[in-house]
Amino acid sequence: MKSVNNFLSFTSTGLYCQAGDFYIDPKRPVHKALVSHAHSDHATPNSGNIYATGPTKQFMKRRFRNSIRSRFHEVAYRETFYLDEVAVTFFPAGHMLGSAMIRMEYQNESYLYTGDFKLQPDDSCETIEIVESDFLVTETTFAHPQYIHPDPENEIRKLNEVQTQNILLGSYSVGKAQRVTQLLSKHCSEKKIFVHREMVKFHEVYEESGVHLGNWEPYTKQGFKKETGSIYILPPNWLHRHSAQHEYFKVFATGWKQSYIKCDSILHISDHADWNDLLKMIELIKPKTVFTLHGDGVHLKQFLEGKINVQLLNE
Ligand SMILES: [Zn+2]
Ligand SMILES: [Zn+2]
Repeated sequence: MKSVNNFLSFTSTGLYCQAGDFYIDPKRPVHKALVSHAHSDHATPNSGNIYATGPTKQFMKRRFRNSIRSRFHEVAYRETFYLDEVAVTFFPAGHMLGSAMIRMEYQNESYLYTGDFKLQPDDSCETIEIVESDFLVTETTFAHPQYIHPDPENEIRKLNEVQTQNILLGSYSVGKAQRVTQLLSKHCSEKKIFVHREMVKFHEVYEESGVHLGNWEPYTKQGFKKETGSIYILPPNWLHRHSAQHEYFKVFATGWKQSYIKCDSILHISDHADWNDLLKMIELIKPKTVFTLHGDGVHLKQFLEGKINVQLLNE
């Protein structure tokens, strides 16, 4: 079985740490889970014990409603706790509200699991904090030189050029939708912002945590249609359902070059590091070995050949 220095093993359930008897971002319920952030590919319900930040706990409780039977252990950033002999500390990952990088220390060696992260400024979440570590387990969603993310403020301002149509904006409901709401409120202040009902509960978590998203309101048909210059933020599957409606200008917010949903334009706004930021991250962490997860680490391995040892955990 592949492992990170025999400390974290790569299993079909997720990364397992035997010394502390816990999993990181497990795919199914386990006895003890450390959850980096609330996205569904990292946060699954019903583990016996869940260690997560306050916002992540709130997002999970709202997403899984009553089905969640876990005991939550709320983790504050930068406060070390012990699981058996393993010292665990969460640091902000800059990916979405409450997102964490998980740092572990055991027998004089340190390990950093990034979860999802970004370096780009984002006022809707905590700023990333980078700590040097001996072993790095990083996501590689955009680990290719072709991915250099543009400035999100310039991307969002493009919507000011849409003058005669109302806009449907497709976005993931947790994290991205709130970041986009805040950006729109700042940079497209002439426009009225409506938010899909599925997203409202997540917007509320942000505002309850003290992150102001600006002027927005829950979607109503009458409100949205009343005047031109309205923007309706809705989940991707809902944008897809409206893809034949030509009266609206349709955009999808994604870091990818192409949209899998038919739309008029793409807003290149990503919550993951691009190629340059991934390299910068590695430079700052100064790991002895880099392990890659999520996405394709092949280009990174080739690029760092002879400088840093890169191993692909998920190949
Ligand atoms: Zn994520
Ligand atoms: Zn992810």
